[in-house]
Amino acid sequence: MKKHNFSAGPCILPQSVMQKASQAVVDFNGMGLSLIEISHRSKEFVEVMETARALALEHLGLSDKGYTALYLQGGASLEFLMVAYNLLENKAAYLNTGTWSSKAIKEAKLFGELVEVASSKDKNFNYIPKQFEIPGDADYFHFTSNNTIFGTQVKDIPETKVPVVCDMSSDIFSRQLDFSKFDLIYAGAQKNMGPAGTTLVVVKEEILGKVSRQIPSMLDYKVHIGKDSMFNTPSVFAVYVSMLTLQWLKDLGGIAEIEKINNSKANLLYGEIDRNPLFNGFVENAADRSNMNATFNLTENANKEVFDQLWKEAGINGLNGHRSVGGYRASMYNALPLESVQVLVDVMQEFERKS
Ligand SMILES: *Cc1c(COP(=O)(O)O)cnc(C)c1O
Repeated sequence: MKKHNFSAGPCILPQSVMQKASQAVVDFNGMGLSLIEISHRSKEFVEVMETARALALEHLGLSDKGYTALYLQGGASLEFLMVAYNLLENKAAYLNTGTWSSKAIKEAKLFGELVEVASSKDKNFNYIPKQFEIPGDADYFHFTSNNTIFGTQVKDIPETKVPVVCDMSSDIFSRQLDFSKFDLIYAGAQKNMGPAGTTLVVVKEEILGKVSRQIPSMLDYKVHIGKDSMFNTPSVFAVYVSMLTLQWLKDLGGIAEIEKINNSKANLLYGEIDRNPLFNGFVENAADRSNMNATFNLTENANKEVFDQLWKEAGINGLNGHRSVGGYRASMYNALPLESVQVLVDVMQEFERKS
């Protein structure tokens, strides 16, 4: 039986994508060859790469606007330093909203002055700071749009005249935003768009080439752009599955449609967390709650063993919270059906009846 998969990452992908991907591993498009045994320079794979790059820009509304999409390797974690390597000449401004922001800050500090404009560390990152100044002379401003571990999400893009860089690993393609306000977006594929092994980078080309340092080829966005994201052998399978996932999203009606479904899922679950006397939400203000990762705890008198047994029996997977937060985390990425959230809510209600 297929489980209800609330895993935080790697995580659920659409069933139809899994089926097509498994078929392509055996025989890709009737070639008599597997997708993973052909040259990445073959016209068949080049078409996959070009389709995946174009679809990413199309979904974000950034086609023909001076942006390039790249599928790189090294995860979002390599982007923490690649961003600074390519963009940080004097000083950069960072908003610290959690573990991933803190890691990005640590790497960027190696390249220049770092201004932490605000941090929610004082309350174990259970809110999004709103009042802060972004220095007008910063080379760029960096933030994490969705804090996968703590379950908070930045709802309004901070206003600034300096280039905006965003780690969208866990909420890319999940909601409508004015993506032209961003100059560089990066996202590890394994949260909302594919398997682990590739990282999407969408960059406005005009912001590049402004630092004086020499950049090693593999870490230079301009080199990857010049080689159409094929400077070295790409993660062919991960790029292919990302392409299929972006096609699935397009067939569904794109970000506008998936956002409605994501809102329904989040409203259903948060509604139950707020209503049910045995649960407490982790995030301080409802406005800061993530639509992708809902974090919650049991109240003191609730029996953890009983609840854990109930959700496991219901075929739910991946509900345990990250070790730095504890409690539970239900990740509701694009591919998670509304029905799975309903199963979880039913379990929470059954738990209440049994307590
Ligand atoms: C998972 C995650 C990362 C780390 O991604 P890797 O691909 O493992 O390097 C970074 N940022 C955010 C927001 C994440 O959710």
